[in-house]
Amino acid sequence: MQRSDEIRRFGRARMGSPFQPFDKEMESKSPTFFVSSSGFYHSLSMSYPEFHYTVACRLHSAPEELWPIVSDTNRFNFDTGLSSVEELRDMSTLTNARRRLKIEFLRIPIIWEEQPFEWVQPYRFGVRRVFKTGPVGEVRVLAQLQPGASGGTTLTYDVWARPRLALGLISIPMVIGFTSMRRVRKVFPSYDELVRQGKGLMPEAVRERLSGNGVRRLQTALKALQDQSFSGELLERLRDLIATGDDFTLSRIRPYVMADFWEVDRRETLNLFFAATRSGLFELRWDILCPACRNSVQSFSTLSDAKPETHCDTCQIDFRANFDAYVELSFRISPSIRTVRDTVYCVGGPQVTPHIVAQQLLPEGDERTISPLLEPGRYRLRSPGVPGSLPLLVDEQTGRQAIAIPLGPAGWPPEELPITTHPELQFRNERGEETLFVLERTAWTDQALTAAEVTAMPMFRDLFSREVLRPNEQISVGTLTVMFTDLCRSTALYHEIGDAPAFGIVMDHLEIMKGLVAKHDGAFVKAMGDGTLSVFRNPLNALRAAEEAHSTLGVRDSENRPLMVKVGIHTGPCIIINQNDRLDYFGSTVNIAARLESLSHGNDMVISSQVYADPEVFDWLPLAPWTLHHTETMLKGFGEKSFPVLRLTHRSIDS
Ligand SMILES: [Zn+2]
Repeated sequence: MQRSDEIRRFGRARMGSPFQPFDKEMESKSPTFFVSSSGFYHSLSMSYPEFHYTVACRLHSAPEELWPIVSDTNRFNFDTGLSSVEELRDMSTLTNARRRLKIEFLRIPIIWEEQPFEWVQPYRFGVRRVFKTGPVGEVRVLAQLQPGASGGTTLTYDVWARPRLALGLISIPMVIGFTSMRRVRKVFPSYDELVRQGKGLMPEAVRERLSGNGVRRLQTALKALQDQSFSGELLERLRDLIATGDDFTLSRIRPYVMADFWEVDRRETLNLFFAATRSGLFELRWDILCPACRNSVQSFSTLSDAKPETHCDTCQIDFRANFDAYVELSFRISPSIRTVRDTVYCVGGPQVTPHIVAQQLLPEGDERTISPLLEPGRYRLRSPGVPGSLPLLVDEQTGRQAIAIPLGPAGWPPEELPITTHPELQFRNERGEETLFVLERTAWTDQALTAAEVTAMPMFRDLFSREVLRPNEQISVGTLTVMFTDLCRSTALYHEIGDAPAFGIVMDHLEIMKGLVAKHDGAFVKAMGDGTLSVFRNPLNALRAAEEAHSTLGVRDSENRPLMVKVGIHTGPCIIINQNDRLDYFGSTVNIAARLESLSHGNDMVISSQVYADPEVFDWLPLAPWTLHHTETMLKGFGEKSFPVLRLTHRSIDS
């Protein structure tokens, strides 16, 4: 089924199996088409003949191992000598993620319309380009990865090209047939070698491109980082990355991807990148991602330059950037250390949107069966211009093997479909118009570092918080846990022991609170007199910080005056604002946490039912030394509704 679809879609290619066993690389000379070294054409009278070139090679790695690098068409186009592309923004007449692109070849601008890439992970991808200028009329490319019977992959790479002008009869064999295919033959085995060496991220791992000054600056910065107690091993990896990483990697370093690749702790790696940025090795790079296709639609060095109201040209939608998931932080090498080309060679290949596991463009009335290889988990099938989506659950045990999925004018079928990890999905386009079927994982990659996460990180706040937002601009940062604390009876303390000693105790208490909040992965936002405001990504960490504050401050008393802390904790959506050059939080979540703190008596904590409902908190509480008291209260300023709260008192006090 796949095979016949392929032939229908990519045209009257070779006859027989597209996966002929090739013992060595070869170029096929299809009998269906004119391609020959002895003559140039069939006929110039009507349209020009189509040229066809094939490279096939047998590789050691499996298709799923090769897929991330082989389908990275941006890198592949660069490695095979293509010019960088420019996207032309006038896409008003284009549908289904088509794009209008331009390259310069021998200083001649060549413009074409690119159909959306089509792929089925990890077996094949291809694209069709229709040219508006230049000697070539149309080019189709198809790469196929066929698993070998005893491991490995037979990779075939086909290019079909038809001239637009007579000049194409000469330029296609020269540029595509000779130069480009010669490079293609070298590139795939070199990717195979990188996969085997575990070097997928660093294809150009041998070139040293640092200038003399770059080397000196790098040494100075590494020395400074060593003094900040980063491990020698981690600094060695950083040095290697900067000296030998390729341009694609260094223009957008994703710290969690690096940490996973290096097999080291993510938080330590991230802190290293923050510190290295302060030492001048990197610049921050913020990308605003489209919520539908997850492409970067804007890229900035300071987030305050970003326009929150934005638009995705590919999906034709407007959206408001929200810090939750759609703003990602990465790092770019500083030009004072190393110059990297930040150019684009391909805008639509499978690795531009790696969460999309299959994408197929079906003419109206068409049907097509694909058989992707999927990890277990949740997926969805969607299509630009069709509301909603079809949820799919990949589960080897309960999933169905073969399934037909019709898409008619009424939209997607309403129920979730269970499918296996290697299903046969038959897409049927019954909408009455051409439709792009997009099958994607719903989970946001946990390797992305979102702005919501970053802005609650202590090290980031210390080093960069001024650079995040324009003064007084507010933006949603998703769900956070907010903790207010206050020192009990501090007024009495000032009265009893005098202003200066009391002030010292209060200041000590603030330092202790700062330390405890950081220890439990929270961010200390501000002190207000004897009170503090902190935020946490995870509710349990707030409770743990509060518990340790009680025990630490409780025994600190030197003159029989126990320091008692009042605590209020609430979880909910927060809004961030840059006020007086500092990131601050506000919104009703923050206000409720403050009210809860005012209900605390000291040596206890008052938490909302939302905090209590968090599964980690729920599991932890029975094991912790706290007794629960359920109660309801009216919160001033929050209407007449009563608000369920829980007061936790320490068992040592209850007894
Ligand atoms: Zn989009």
